[in-house]
Amino acid sequence: MSENITTIEEIISLCKRRGFIFQSSEIYGGLQGIYDYGPFGVELKNNLKGAWWKAIVYERDDVEGLDSSIITHRMTLKHSGHEDTFTDPLIDCRDCKHRMRADHVVNNKCDNCESQNLTEPRNFNLMFRTNLGPIDNGVNYAYLRPETAQGIFTNFKNVLDATSRKLPFGIAQIGKAFRNEITPKNFIFRVREFEQMELEFFVEPGTDEEWHQEWIKNRLKWWQSQGLSPENLKLQPQSASELAHYSKATTDILYRFPQGFEELEGIANRTDYDLGSHTKDQDNLKIFSKVSPNNNSTTKLGGLNSETKEYRLPFVIEPSGGLDRGVLAILTEAYTKEQLENGQERIVLKLKPHLAPIKIAVIPLARNNEKIVSKAKEIKQSLQKFGIGRIRYEDTGNIGKGYRRNDEIGTPLCITVDFDTFEGDTETVTIRYRDSMLQERIAINDLEKFIRNYFL
Ligand code: ATP
Repeated sequence: MSENITTIEEIISLCKRRGFIFQSSEIYGGLQGIYDYGPFGVELKNNLKGAWWKAIVYERDDVEGLDSSIITHRMTLKHSGHEDTFTDPLIDCRDCKHRMRADHVVNNKCDNCESQNLTEPRNFNLMFRTNLGPIDNGVNYAYLRPETAQGIFTNFKNVLDATSRKLPFGIAQIGKAFRNEITPKNFIFRVREFEQMELEFFVEPGTDEEWHQEWIKNRLKWWQSQGLSPENLKLQPQSASELAHYSKATTDILYRFPQGFEELEGIANRTDYDLGSHTKDQDNLKIFSKVSPNNNSTTKLGGLNSETKEYRLPFVIEPSGGLDRGVLAILTEAYTKEQLENGQERIVLKLKPHLAPIKIAVIPLARNNEKIVSKAKEIKQSLQKFGIGRIRYEDTGNIGKGYRRNDEIGTPLCITVDFDTFEGDTETVTIRYRDSMLQERIAINDLEKFIRNYFL
């Protein structure tokens, strides 16, 4: 079993040092709970998104994609229940003024100064409100979406009409969500601006529990295929008191983050709650859940059952994963410290090749040698055309430093052009493997075949 002894400080330090993740607005003191992704972080995050999209949209035949807006109509979030119920209980410490989520307080003590002089909990809505247009009259406001899901529900009929889908089918979306968390913490684990990878999978009522189990299995397997080991993943059904206002049942996939096992993704059975809530004339419908009354939307978000000819609302199963939590889980799993024979320590990110920010670093051994430099640049350009991701020309001038940097950002292969490249009948380069550190020589003419075999 891979015992996870990586600390959050080690991950934060690597992320800053090597250009994965930075504190947002750091030069002005930073914004709490908000982060920026640097050159290698953006590649890692995009690769994880790409892997999700490929598995959920491209490799299935029953899911369509969507990219809905972040700014959301107030009525959408009123009828979805978020305006009234998307709250966390907030407690203040009267002595040091520290704020805490009531459900995170242990032994009725302030987690900053240990005082027991705490206020009663009061509900705090987590949604960010913003103004549309120049006049702030307290009416023309909208919200930054707290989940991407609502854009899927409000577009349900548009997608259905445009694609002629029949149940079961899903709509997938990856995008930003915003929550004014009371206590953002653990680096990118709990933040105020984050990305979600959400699928709303619409099914016939009555088949929902079966599909729920199916998606729990599917999603657990997918996280494993991204490199998370089974010992570091756990399924946890939520208790009735933990369930969100829309959910009949939710199972969380927990990952062993540096701070312990915590939620990476939730798979919820949202029933017909959302489509029902956004539907006009609810009185004429048989709806399973208690929905938002007096809805003034202009449509019925359901469909005709082709066999019974009855109008009905689908149920929906929602696998909702956090992209930033996914990045943190993958960094935690991949971060490895190795003791080398020469007594030095090596830090290496053992990322799956498809997630690695840089697939191959091409390094000229002598940066002042024109022949070597131009050959290295030529190789970089030709490998870039294979479509496997970013290839980086690495002009450090110090091969040891080049390898160390690439180990720390998880580059699976380094290709070095050196003086031997031009010796012999055919031109050759050295390939160095990240995990084993083994090196082998290969003819430049064979590189394409080798790289295609390795990555595709
Ligand atoms: P938590 O209980 O940890 O606050 P949640 O149950 O409210 O999370 P969901 O509403 O189910 O979270 O959101 C789906 C996913 O979005 C979560 O599994 C998580 O990966 C991600 N997520 C939610 N809130 C945050 C946040 N503040 N920062 C980063 N990711 C988040």
